[in-house]
Amino acid sequence: MMNNSQPPRYKAYSLNNFKKLPCMARLDEDELFDIEVVGNVFPFKVSNYVVEELIDWNNYKDDPIFRLTFPHRDMLLPGHYELMSQALKAGKSRPEIRQLANQIRTELNPHPAGQIKLNVPVINGQKLMGVQHKYRETVLFFPGSGQTCHSYCTFCFRWPQFTGMDELKFAMRETDSLVKYLQQHHEVTDLLFTGGDPMIMKAKVFRQYIEPFLEGTHKTNVQTIRIGSKSLAYWPYKFTTDPDAEEMLGLFRALVDKGFNVSFMAHFSHPVELNTAAVQLAVKRILATGVQIRTQSPVLRHINDKPEVWSKMWRQQVNMNMIPYYMFVERDTGAQHYFEIPLEETWEIFRQAYRKVSGICRTVRGPSMSCTPGKVQILGVQEINGQKVFVLRFIQGRNPNWVGRPFFAKYDPEATWFDDLEPAFEDHFFFQYELDKQAGSAIAESDKYMCN
Ligand SMILES: *Cc1c(COP(=O)(O)O)cnc(C)c1O
Ligand code: SF4
Repeated sequence: MMNNSQPPRYKAYSLNNFKKLPCMARLDEDELFDIEVVGNVFPFKVSNYVVEELIDWNNYKDDPIFRLTFPHRDMLLPGHYELMSQALKAGKSRPEIRQLANQIRTELNPHPAGQIKLNVPVINGQKLMGVQHKYRETVLFFPGSGQTCHSYCTFCFRWPQFTGMDELKFAMRETDSLVKYLQQHHEVTDLLFTGGDPMIMKAKVFRQYIEPFLEGTHKTNVQTIRIGSKSLAYWPYKFTTDPDAEEMLGLFRALVDKGFNVSFMAHFSHPVELNTAAVQLAVKRILATGVQIRTQSPVLRHINDKPEVWSKMWRQQVNMNMIPYYMFVERDTGAQHYFEIPLEETWEIFRQAYRKVSGICRTVRGPSMSCTPGKVQILGVQEINGQKVFVLRFIQGRNPNWVGRPFFAKYDPEATWFDDLEPAFEDHFFFQYELDKQAGSAIAESDKYMCN
């Protein structure tokens, strides 16, 4: 537990200092070296809160939060592991290590992190970087000052791209062009702040981004402001004892007072993230501002691949007055072989969990794949006229007309992602021709799953 007399101060551990952690004494030399090998390829940063309050060090090997935040040997394929391990043992230089890491990453994931070039809107002939407009009603905004997180999830490829600029000036400029775009697009009702984690921002920086909405000068049709964040799981003190906690909550309250529906989209991966006094207080304080909290997470091997984990998590979230929203299928991970789960099993995890909870918890939708045509929900596996199929539907579609129409794909026990599926009963999916027609114009080559 953290010291109760002093407000906890945020501290981050990563490759250069993790060995100083007292709990590392429990790991043997090989395990420590594995962290180093894998941590050179995948993101590694963990907050003192996660280390001291979430991970059960008596069972660290199988602890879900340890797996979520600490690199694990099996995240690398054996060949890649050998390459990196030999490079480190040979004492290769920093640039050489970095080059090898990049090479491995490219082989694992041909679409490197942070390239938010999909569905990038244009205003007055200029590309609006940091903005993504894929679904009619909702614009995603990646504020330049929110491109890191309090800890990194080992499955995520979106670790920091840029920091340390003149944050305030940058924020004002970005907000200016975002608001201009929204003024020209009154179909947009929802503005979603994502990242990284926008709640990494200090309150006075965040204020710059929402100033036009606070001032009432925005002249847009934005009605809901969403904030995607994993801060409640990785640093809840952001809303309790941090120096800017009150100011941040004040901004939430001010947006609500202005008439906005503000929804905090909280990323929770496991029920243990809901148990500490700090997160419980943080949730209460956020709710007291009039902001709603909706919850979402991908389903991942080694972390939350059991139905009981989800039913317990949804029930507990509802008990804390949060609203379960999405369960995602994760694709955009580097260590895909390590985290992935076949679609059928993913659906079973969802179904077994869903049927255990009451209707109040069944606001959750999933399992959902964010792919090029839209967000595709796996409704289930069914046999129709002797043929086993996946039943699917769009929760969100590139074309709003696609939403809600059930469609079918051939059953494939090994499929782990939408791209693995083939149409059943027909030679094309109903949306295929229209999707192909759009290809080359606005279509994304890959679609990044939005964690936050
Ligand atoms: C999920 C998502 C949204 C938000 O969709 P909702 O159905 O409104 O929650 C917006 N943009 C992208 C690209 C998304 O993946
Ligand atoms: S999944 Fe979200 S919280 Fe985790 S590292 Fe990625 S952006 Fe950060």
